[in-house]
Amino acid sequence: MTSPLVSVSVDLDAVECYHRIHALTDGPSAEARFAILRRALPRLGELFARHGIAATLFTVGRDLEDDSEGRRIVADLAKAGHEIASHSYSHPYDLVRLGRVKIAAEIDPRRGRHRRGMRPSAGGLPRARYEISAELIEILCERGYRYDSSAFPAIPYYLAKAAVMAGLRVAGRKSGSILGSPWVLPRRARPTGLPRARPTVAGSCPSSKCP
Ligand SMILES: [Zn+2]
Repeated sequence: MTSPLVSVSVDLDAVECYHRIHALTDGPSAEARFAILRRALPRLGELFARHGIAATLFTVGRDLEDDSEGRRIVADLAKAGHEIASHSYSHPYDLVRLGRVKIAAEIDPRRGRHRRGMRPSAGGLPRARYEISAELIEILCERGYRYDSSAFPAIPYYLAKAAVMAGLRVAGRKSGSILGSPWVLPRRARPTGLPRARPTVAGSCPSSKCP
């Protein structure tokens, strides 16, 4: 009997991201600011080690830049066999709206410790929430990424988020996130392979070759 093939991945969003989603006006406390990388991540590392799991950790580049202790923890996990992938540089919820120059800066592999994979922070365009835009695919190709893992077809998550967003609206608070179209929900939960990574000169990743 063969075992089912699964992959385990974690988005390492800082607590500050949740303040933005829930429209909290005060920022996280000094302790909470680094809690994900310094407190939650080592616990995850222990859990993964206990079960022999090699996970993919989607990291926010700016958080690593700001936190030497967090960087060390991530580097130790990379040495232990976990993949470090990109969750953008500053976790903008409107990533796909930023335009080519800013998108390219957000996913620049030099602004993080990732090498191959990308899971963009959620955008709000009808075809881009936890999805991928043609422009973003092209830029990922140009930057040598091997795969994209944006699609998040989780109906319970979508419904929970819709309820939270509706509650915030009723309370007159504006969330930093956006609820997109549910069109992505029927899609398969698997990464999107990109054309074979290759260094490019002047954008040599024709969109016709992109999935
Ligand atoms: Zn995130």
